[in-house]
Amino acid sequence: MSNAYSFNIIPPNDSERVEALKRYRIFNTPAENEFDSIVKLAITIFKVPIAHISFLDAENEFVKASVGIDGIVLVDRGESICALSLLTPDVLVVENAFTDPAFARHPFVHGDFGLRFYAGAPIVTPDNYIIGTICLVDTQPRTLTPHEKDILQSLANVVMEQVALRLSNIEKSERQQQTNLLLATSEDRLKGILDTMAEGVSIVDVTGKLIFTNQMARNIFGLNGIDIADRTYNDTKWKNLRQDGTLLPDEEHPMTLALKTGSSVYDFEVGIKIPKKEVFYISINAAPIVDVDGAITGGIATFMDVTNRRQLMKQKDEFISIASHELKTPITSLKASIQLLDRVKNDPSSPMFPKLIEQAGKSLQKLSSLVNDLLNVNRIAQGQLSLRKTTFNLAELIKDCCQLVHSTANHVEIKGDLNLMVSADEQRIDQVVVNMVNNAIKYAPDSKHIDIIIEKINGAAKVSVKDNGPGIAAEKLPYLFDRYYRADYSGVQFSGLGLGLYISADIIKKHGGEIGVDTEPGRGSTFWFTLPVNQ
Ligand code: ADP
Repeated sequence: MSNAYSFNIIPPNDSERVEALKRYRIFNTPAENEFDSIVKLAITIFKVPIAHISFLDAENEFVKASVGIDGIVLVDRGESICALSLLTPDVLVVENAFTDPAFARHPFVHGDFGLRFYAGAPIVTPDNYIIGTICLVDTQPRTLTPHEKDILQSLANVVMEQVALRLSNIEKSERQQQTNLLLATSEDRLKGILDTMAEGVSIVDVTGKLIFTNQMARNIFGLNGIDIADRTYNDTKWKNLRQDGTLLPDEEHPMTLALKTGSSVYDFEVGIKIPKKEVFYISINAAPIVDVDGAITGGIATFMDVTNRRQLMKQKDEFISIASHELKTPITSLKASIQLLDRVKNDPSSPMFPKLIEQAGKSLQKLSSLVNDLLNVNRIAQGQLSLRKTTFNLAELIKDCCQLVHSTANHVEIKGDLNLMVSADEQRIDQVVVNMVNNAIKYAPDSKHIDIIIEKINGAAKVSVKDNGPGIAAEKLPYLFDRYYRADYSGVQFSGLGLGLYISADIIKKHGGEIGVDTEPGRGSTFWFTLPVNQ
């Protein structure tokens, strides 16, 4: 052992005692006011030059607070006089160490320090382990009255209370940190969920200021988080509109209603006009947020962009009126034919007969093709358009259907690979070709030539119907194959339901082929489709 002197006193329960000390997490910690104050109080009460609070683990005495021995923090337990206090639950008093044989060779007593008086009161845990002492030291011999011993022990008890309180504060703050961490994690998770939602979510405070928006809300508004910060749901930077496009008064806004009345509003459509942007429509559900006392503290809105839905509804309305009109034309003509037939019914030799019957037949054909289109749209919507495949010659099919398409003005020519065979639903492909040729005749009436080209490209049969008509503007192209879509040619009225290309696209897709158009305004259009060819 390197020490010249050692008490070498280890109480029998020392390892449990050290464990108990560890639990309080005080050993080797920086100075703290609470402990410094207790030591200063001891100096004042007992009028000694030195006092300190120490804790003892297996190897060292740790001085937590002291007066008169600045700079001493750790003392080897073998040299620690305080280690003696571990042996007794009472206050240990050494009145004159110089004359006490137990201290005869202790360096603090014989060295420069000149220790004479020592008194130490044990710091005892509630489960009876002595973890440290509060001690008084003097270089003069002195005594301690029983009353003074009681005071010193009381101070030791205060130290213990302080140690326990300190631990409970540490644990409390750790729990708080843990809770904060959990809160932050669950807030992050919630934000993550809200950001993956297909609906916009926004939260406002009681003044209507936006305090949260999810990613979809910002997408719908086309604004980023910074743009949206500090705005209110009824901000002057955007206009809220009624369905008819007039300004929506604040008091009619679903969020105002939710904040004012405390009741929820569902599926309320509002138009939004942001400068330099097209008006878009959102369907809002708004609900108040209430605190535990039932007071309204804000509101939450979920909303989705219904601009497309509205557009589709509008198209549907338009479609119904177009469809009624389209059906009325052949019905009126059929009615007229039948009325005329009625007039000549008693004269079978009348030259009117065959003409009227042919006319009635044409009207019926038109009616049945319109009704077929309507039925097909329904089948497509329900995924019930089925295929009956056979193997046939494409050129033959195209030739047959061109004979049925009547046109006096246009000359239809079939070119290319006239022997190409495909495996497909003949009737459906016929429908696609008839629609393309009919469209070419209808929308390009001045085009003298209509060419139908059959090719084999990359293992697929390609059929192109090429006209030299007006062509189609680029901005209309993305919608040509949509349901009910009819490009509007100002001043020219063409009959049609806007379904032909939509049905054709579905038929071709079902075959695993592609459909498209190459066109430019003023340079005609080439509508084409492909079908996979069996090798
Ligand atoms: P419909 O002919 O009943 O309107 P379609 O679905 O067949 O319906 O065609 C959709 C739209 O595509 C037409 O309304 C027309 O505006 C445009 N279109 C189709 N074929 C041509 C063509 N050959 N030339 C110019 N526009 C065409």
